[in-house]
Amino acid sequence: MSVFDRYLKPDYILDTFKDVTPEFCRKYDIKALICDIDNTLVTYDDPEPTEAVTAWYRSLDDIGVKLSFVSNNEAERVTRFAKPLGVPAFYKSGKPSRRGLRMAVEAMGSDPMSTVLLGDQLLTDVMAAKRFGIRAIVVPPIKDKTTLFFRAKRAIERPFMNKYTKQGAGKNVKT
Ligand SMILES: [Mg+2]
Repeated sequence: MSVFDRYLKPDYILDTFKDVTPEFCRKYDIKALICDIDNTLVTYDDPEPTEAVTAWYRSLDDIGVKLSFVSNNEAERVTRFAKPLGVPAFYKSGKPSRRGLRMAVEAMGSDPMSTVLLGDQLLTDVMAAKRFGIRAIVVPPIKDKTTLFFRAKRAIERPFMNKYTKQGAGKNVKT
């Protein structure tokens, strides 16, 4: 395994956060989720959880799967988004730093072995998970920003994402 794969390759590639169902969590022994917000659950324009996000959270909460948010975004955005769900949330986490993930695991009281990160970016989300030593699920971004910085990041990620999708990272896991 190349050094890139070691830090960028997600364990599961899904179409949307909604594919992280109670069945999926049971099947893959997921008891806690560390979740990115922007472009993973909602667009940058949604200040609060959508009905779909709330329903998704309830379905997981029903079977005891814990949730936390670890975002690189600002305090105001992250706390406002997390408040209606009442779950632990960490802002300005500086992913790929491990710091936010460590705090989330502590806040949820979860075992890293059964804690999985859910995000949309290889270079921040997946790398943070891999550096921390936990599994990662990647979903395609809901709606990307079109700034030059974001486009550059996506351009770097693209060949890796194409390769991992082709290899079927996680595709087999849906059946
Ligand atoms: Mg994101």
